[in-house]
Amino acid sequence: MNHGKNLITVLGATGSIGVSTLDVVARHPDLFGVFALTAHRQVDKLFEQCLAHRPAYAVLERSEDALSLQSRLDSAGCCTEVLIGSAALAEVASAPEVDMVMAAIVGAAGLVPTLAAARAGKRVLLANKEALVMSGALFMHEVAASGAVLLPIDSEHNAIFQALPAGFQRGLHDSGVTRILLTASGGPFRRMPLETLAEVTPEMACAHPNWVMGRKISVDSATMMNKGLEVIEAHWLFGLPANGIEVVIHPQSVIHSMVSYADGSVIAQLGNPDMRTPIAHAMAYPHRIDAGVRALDLFEIARLDFERPDHDRFPCLALAYRALEEGGVAPAVLNAANEVAVGSFLDGALRFDRIPAVIADTLDAITPRAADSLELVFEADRKAREVAGGLVRGLGA
Ligand code: NAD
Ligand code: MG
Repeated sequence: MNHGKNLITVLGATGSIGVSTLDVVARHPDLFGVFALTAHRQVDKLFEQCLAHRPAYAVLERSEDALSLQSRLDSAGCCTEVLIGSAALAEVASAPEVDMVMAAIVGAAGLVPTLAAARAGKRVLLANKEALVMSGALFMHEVAASGAVLLPIDSEHNAIFQALPAGFQRGLHDSGVTRILLTASGGPFRRMPLETLAEVTPEMACAHPNWVMGRKISVDSATMMNKGLEVIEAHWLFGLPANGIEVVIHPQSVIHSMVSYADGSVIAQLGNPDMRTPIAHAMAYPHRIDAGVRALDLFEIARLDFERPDHDRFPCLALAYRALEEGGVAPAVLNAANEVAVGSFLDGALRFDRIPAVIADTLDAITPRAADSLELVFEADRKAREVAGGLVRGLGA
């Protein structure tokens, strides 16, 4: 703690979650201060954020970007020191001054710094679901060993956290929880004729009906792999088996998820679809603070609908359940193949409707084995990227 303020490191500050996090920080200068801000390559955006929040450190991937940011900050009279590369990400995530870390880097690149924050016993605000999907057992082990406080930012998992009894981390056996109901909007193509999915462009896939998000998670939402990754994320966060986690399509995205209990009660968390709610919840926990989110108007919403997911339309959902059942490195393989397939789609090198086949064939090609160490996880990740890359080149756009 520093002057009574909680100091935060925001990993992935320039992204959609990072920007929402800094919006909450700016609303509460008495409660929060910024220790470090990190970005991949967005020098201009990070420069503006440094001027506004005056962090002790900023991190960029490449030295030429870091040098350019440093000289601009120096000329502007800002004392932020700019660091370079992935080792620096882990340093600013685990430094002794830091109270909480927002893990909002997208994809596998976020795993090492997020794990560093967990190891250092920080309050970890977890948006980077891919980290937990890749190495759930190792990650949860580190959290338990260091006494880190792990709070979910993914809106569904944050909702479930809010609907579970206190102390659920010790096990759900005696709590009467029977199921988790994970809600999903169904994305932009819920009703689109199946044969037209071949013509989907990145712009169409990134136009989500309810949420404004980064490009990768937007495509994941359109294929429903996002929900698949979230099933795996829920398994690790809440300790339920795959058959205790059910996906419910709820197009309005007002109920952010539910917990079902033995006595017939179902507890839900509702709100407008705005990520500042789960972010503010986790930053202030166990207190409640203003998040800048509009109050929910039930009369304006008028109705809430529910449907079963259509597995023919969304084969990625079953692939994620399959990887969870297989266990070991299978979820890391699923995640890596998905990152390659989605990246290729966004680059115009793979058709949208071929994303599931790349992931399925990569899972088939790699023999499942235990995920006992980070080395084994990264080896599976690398192998899966190689296989998936080959499959993409074979299929073409
Ligand atoms: P985004 O693409 O908008 O931002 C990603 C951030 O990570 C950027 O700051 C970028 O500079 C940084 N980054 C990207 N690649 C990097 C690399 N190789 N090394 C270092 N930094 C890198 O993504 P987002 O929508 O903010 O999502 C971030 C994470 O939060 C994802 O894991 C996503 O699944 C999760 N999430 C997002 C939302 C949402 O509403 N956006 C909701 C739930 C969960
Ligand atoms: Mg989500």
